Amino acid sequence: MMLTAELIKEKAREYGADLVGIGDIAGFADEIPQRDPRQILPWATCVIGCGFRVPRALYQSMADGSQHFNYTQLGVKTIDEELSEVFLLKMAGLIENEGYDACVQRNISNLRIKGDKTTNPEVSDTYELVHAEPVAPGKPAPDVIMDFTRAAQVCGLGSRSLRGGVLTPQFGPFVRFVFIVTDAPLACDEPFKRELCDQCGACVRACPGHALSSKDGGLDSWQCAVYYRGAHRSNPFMTDDILKGHPEREAILNGDKRFDAESARAIYPSLRFLPMAQTGYAPCLCGRRCDVACYEHLREAKIL
Ligand code: SF4
Ligand code: SF4
Repeated sequence: MMLTAELIKEKAREYGADLVGIGDIAGFADEIPQRDPRQILPWATCVIGCGFRVPRALYQSMADGSQHFNYTQLGVKTIDEELSEVFLLKMAGLIENEGYDACVQRNISNLRIKGDKTTNPEVSDTYELVHAEPVAPGKPAPDVIMDFTRAAQVCGLGSRSLRGGVLTPQFGPFVRFVFIVTDAPLACDEPFKRELCDQCGACVRACPGHALSSKDGGLDSWQCAVYYRGAHRSNPFMTDDILKGHPEREAILNGDKRFDAESARAIYPSLRFLPMAQTGYAPCLCGRRCDVACYEHLREAKIL
């Protein structure tokens, strides 16, 4: 069987991908070593990018206040932990059967490269690889973790949003990605050239925790993590006894208090509204309003 870009795209769709594109490895020429796919497979020729849509109705149910847990369970965990993994292993088998290497990359939800002080609000906590050291001079500290937003752009699938995620012409922000770094000689797509984010600010205004800013680099991930977990009045599970007696309760519930890593972690135990023990994924209690507002804006502006 001849491994072509057409075959890869056909199989990716057959195995469940909603979007697929192939990016030239040259598109990562100026990437920092700790995020560079060429550090994972130095003889790589390209990166295959695949997107899985998150059903719109999962966001709608959160906006309606009728369901929150299904988004976390199906829209985040199942896509990242199950769909992505089975998909990647099947694709890797297809590529390696033809004699090429396939370094499969799923979303590394709970790790941060050394020096990355941000967090992922979707999981119970994140760990920065502070003790990692390169195994030889000239090598990056492990683990190398690709920038998925950049990779999606190189693969021609979408552009960076103000929040730092990917906006696609098909699904807006309602999509999650996986990648395969490979030496298969595949015809590559053009990088995504448009800027879908028009800096409208709808996502900034929609966040109950004021975690987004059009000036200060987009997302404050620790602020987001606290409000994603529901430290605001619009959380339908909020009761009078949550944070009772806390001297800053009003400011917190109004989204006015600023959190850093230390203060965010300190307040996590007070924000237990739905279970996370079985999954390690934090229930989304902000309704991901930034993305919902973005989706609506993109539809109204006819960008979607
Ligand atoms: S709306 Fe939710 S996910 Fe979006 S930035 Fe605010 S807290 Fe984070
Ligand atoms: S809501 Fe507007 S500013 Fe925010 S990511 Fe979407 S297009 Fe960009």
